[in-house]
Amino acid sequence: MSLDVAAIREQFPILKREIDGNPLVYLDNAATTQKPQCVIDALVDYYTTCNSNVHRGAHRLADEATRHFEAARDIVKDFINAPKREEVIWTSGTTEGINIIANGLGQLLSPGDEVITTGMDHHANLVTWQQACKVSGATLKTVPVLDSGELDQSAYSALLNERTKFVAFPHVSNALGTVNPIKEMTAKAKQVGAWVLVDGAQGAAHGRVDVQDIGCDFYAFSGHKIYGPMGVGALWGKASVLANWPVWRTGGEMISTVTLQDATWNVLPYRFEAGTPNVGDAIAMGEAIRWFSALDQDAVAAHEKALLDHATELAERFEGLTIIGQAKEKIGVLSFVLDHGHPADIGFLLDRQGIAVRTGDHCAQPLMARFNVPGTARASFSVYNTLEEVDALFAALKKVRTMLA
Ligand code: PLP
Repeated sequence: MSLDVAAIREQFPILKREIDGNPLVYLDNAATTQKPQCVIDALVDYYTTCNSNVHRGAHRLADEATRHFEAARDIVKDFINAPKREEVIWTSGTTEGINIIANGLGQLLSPGDEVITTGMDHHANLVTWQQACKVSGATLKTVPVLDSGELDQSAYSALLNERTKFVAFPHVSNALGTVNPIKEMTAKAKQVGAWVLVDGAQGAAHGRVDVQDIGCDFYAFSGHKIYGPMGVGALWGKASVLANWPVWRTGGEMISTVTLQDATWNVLPYRFEAGTPNVGDAIAMGEAIRWFSALDQDAVAAHEKALLDHATELAERFEGLTIIGQAKEKIGVLSFVLDHGHPADIGFLLDRQGIAVRTGDHCAQPLMARFNVPGTARASFSVYNTLEEVDALFAALKKVRTMLA
């Protein structure tokens, strides 16, 4: 079945915008996706009908807010096939989810222990582990990236040993679009008894996730990259691991008992949810996942592949353009440089023609250094993009190259 892209576009009011008289062509979906009307409505409904603090109120609004908030947790649980709802922790996004685990890890590691991350990680999944290693005296190792934009799997295997305590890698590279073999990588890490965290910021936005099938211990993702609001996300962790993981943020809600000198912690998931949660956005994130899950996932994948294939074909024929990242398994991300002009200039001149792409290092400075580029221009596709928009990108890019030459 193919995707009814026109009907999908109708649900995104922002796509009707014009930029300097040009129709908006939004190709910056890896940075954040746009929101369908039902997600906007869910947020407005929450604030117009039942805004209240959850779990502690003895009144109707608190009751309703708690019910919607916890129902959204169930939607996340089902979407990632988590075995238990208490394994789903609300966060402010992928970054916070990773920080929760990294902070606890810093307390569990000792000098001599090793942590492995990769040369393609977003800073959120790199600087965090650097810090955990710094505070604990553990050593950070890196899986190198091949010219294709894939991780060097034999180098990864060689890095794993009995000192490896933790491995973190991205499901999908935000800068290159590479889809990593996360199940195989997890299985290898498990052979040496390491904990595994998958950074799912880009993975969750492109199809259902099955954390049980992956076999990892932790999976973190953000609402705003999957048609939901900013400022909310989810961290999943195996109950048996989370139950003993050191807490990071302390305060209200995450405690069980408190005396003037000491405190005991609440049960999962609340022991990792200190303070008032982002209730309205969590509910709207649930609505976003419900909306996305209702789409035919095979059709979504086929549509995004068609966009990427078309863009890649045009890019390969485009004079002076070099694609950065040509992995066999990719989501709809085309990262590139031109022979003339800095990526920032490309972005600026595309914007003047209504085309929104991302330029820069994509929070992956070591990866840019690996490919010896100052940054790239990145077009990233989503369910509402069309082949005509890909054509518009390359028509505009032609003008850009003439201007920059
Ligand atoms: N990891 C990857 C691969 C990302 O692409 C991003 C954001 O672009 C993040 C982590 C951080 O996500 P957030 O800023 O939503 O916390």
